[in-house]
Amino acid sequence: MTAPIPYDPDAVHTPVLTFRWTVRGDPGDALYEASGTCPVCGCAMRRTWNFGQPPIGKGGFLGRRKEPGTEPCYTVCQCRTLHMNRPPSEPLGCGALLAIAPPPASGGTP
Ligand SMILES: [Zn+2]
Ligand SMILES: [Zn+2]
Repeated sequence: MTAPIPYDPDAVHTPVLTFRWTVRGDPGDALYEASGTCPVCGCAMRRTWNFGQPPIGKGGFLGRRKEPGTEPCYTVCQCRTLHMNRPPSEPLGCGALLAIAPPPASGGTP
């Protein structure tokens, strides 16, 4: 490992990453967990999404999708390494925004 990189909230990694997806739970309320390596800091990280959650309230948009879809999933780095200068409000990660390729569609055509 190289020296730890400092926290950088402005870091953006635009190329879409391919993470390994693990799906848990019931259909319609499944948890999708992506795990892989943050290319910015080089640490392993994972992030869980719940795509099955229906929106609450009419016309309300809570930033959740009904299903994974085909758009990349955006998340800030969630690694457990303590990066320098990380603000107390951010318990995890190096601050980089990552785009992760969506999970493969289940039960559909390959
Ligand atoms: Zn990172
Ligand atoms: Zn890291």
